[in-house]
Amino acid sequence: MRLTVIGCSGSHPGPDSACSSYLVEHEGFRLLVDLGNGALGELQRHADPRDVDALFLTHLHGDHWLDLVPLAHVRRHHPDGRVPKPLRVFAPISERDRVSGAFGGANLDDVFAFEAPRDTEVGPFALSVMRTAHPVETHAVKIATRGHTFVYTADTGWFPELVDFARDADLLLAEAGFIDGAANPNGVHLTATQAGELANASNVARLVATHVAPWHDAAAQARRAAVAFGGPTELARRGATFDV
Ligand SMILES: [Zn+2]
Repeated sequence: MRLTVIGCSGSHPGPDSACSSYLVEHEGFRLLVDLGNGALGELQRHADPRDVDALFLTHLHGDHWLDLVPLAHVRRHHPDGRVPKPLRVFAPISERDRVSGAFGGANLDDVFAFEAPRDTEVGPFALSVMRTAHPVETHAVKIATRGHTFVYTADTGWFPELVDFARDADLLLAEAGFIDGAANPNGVHLTATQAGELANASNVARLVATHVAPWHDAAAQARRAAVAFGGPTELARRGATFDV
């Protein structure tokens, strides 16, 4: 499978990247994971938004879902008249009403088909989910094809069950939103060092650090994660691709 970073900025878009969104492709199937603010623009460099086959939203913080609103517009009103079938959207149950509310309460069942996040199969992918430690309902997701596994932590504070969830992944995309040594609240984000420690304890092959807010130094966060991991570590950047 191939992972493309559509957006990787945490909390709000920055000058170099939209908020969280990751395109996962395999055998011609396009699974989009998160669609934060600004991501729909960048997505169009890589795919027609009407050709996304399924969308998994890890949680309902705006930096992970807000561009579902303009996506509805594109899928319903493109002037060439090609209207795709309703998009499967895995998301916490209140998302249907939130998106509808952005359109004055309009029924969007012709655009989106919402489903609760769960372990399931989507196209060529086997999805597994795990609730994370975050202030709202949030799911980490494991995406597997035959023989290859990609794990995305979503937003989360440290909790030990993450280690087993990510174990032996070919690629771990881990958020590194908090700065080491700061007075960080529990149950919100990983520090860069915790992201690296997770990769090490899980014995993953590669680590990609992501979800660094524009007010932090993303390259420094990746370096801290690399030290804690002791293995191949990269920083998520807009447009970067990773073959898993
Ligand atoms: Zn969040």
